[in-house]
Amino acid sequence: MQARTYLRASLFAALVVISLKLLAWKVTGSVGFLSDAMESIVNVAAAAFALFIVRIAEAPPDADHPFGHTKAEYFSSGAEGLLIGVAAALILVEAGQRLTQPQPISAVPLGAAISALATAINLGVALWMLRGAKRLRSIVIEADARHLMTDVWTSVGVIIGVLLVPVTGWLWLDPVIGIIVALHILREAFSLVKRSVDGLMDKSMTDADLAELQTVLDRFRSKDMRFDHVRTRVAGTRRFVSMHLHMPGQWSLQRAANCRYSVEKALIDAHPGMAVTIEMLTAGQESLQEENEQAHSGREQDDCTPNPPHRAPE
Ligand SMILES: [Zn+2]
Repeated sequence: MQARTYLRASLFAALVVISLKLLAWKVTGSVGFLSDAMESIVNVAAAAFALFIVRIAEAPPDADHPFGHTKAEYFSSGAEGLLIGVAAALILVEAGQRLTQPQPISAVPLGAAISALATAINLGVALWMLRGAKRLRSIVIEADARHLMTDVWTSVGVIIGVLLVPVTGWLWLDPVIGIIVALHILREAFSLVKRSVDGLMDKSMTDADLAELQTVLDRFRSKDMRFDHVRTRVAGTRRFVSMHLHMPGQWSLQRAANCRYSVEKALIDAHPGMAVTIEMLTAGQESLQEENEQAHSGREQDDCTPNPPHRAPE
């Protein structure tokens, strides 16, 4: 069986599960069941949207987008985060109202049975996908299955909580369950929005990746070769690095270019798909950009005078 089959099956199962959970909410009027249904809806919407966005993000660079399309991922996580946040806020408002004006919930055993059926379907699909993920060594399927498992545990908590309401007569318990689930959803929303903000703000690679990068550069460092102004950024699945490579001024351009090529190759070998930009400079000279950052004024260079600006004929 293929990876796509598992993902399609999980999407179909999710639709059945959501319908059952909404039914459980309808027959009982429980905010707890409503929030549980909302979490499943949010998960399915997120998964479907992610599948769609991944297609765009995978498109190769073109003339309009020479750095690729990988940042499209951040639309997905940002929009998802906001949607999930709104859903959580709506549940919080509803649950808050129920706390101040407690309402009895009805047909709890029936609602719990329907919700339990939905949860059993979720559990079965999750276990089936975990087996498939192992066989196919697929991280995507495994992540999907693990997500489904957390959904199962939330539902179990909600069902037990709602069942306790008629037993104990505590009407406040139902909205409190709703609030706990909503806060959990809100936390997920926050991490999704943070992910897209990090990406749009050109956050650097992780510390582990940076350390690995320095290990590669260490192999080339010598009394002649020096690296500085190493900058990295991550755009979705792509990583970008730019740096200075300082070498003795008397080296031939060919020798310097050979060294630059070797460094670039070693970096790409260590991080496949990484976009590497290496600026070649002499030992004693910085680029004008760096000098300006250190509040130095640019020197005039005699060796390289640009052509005079083109004047329109009079
Ligand atoms: Zn430099």
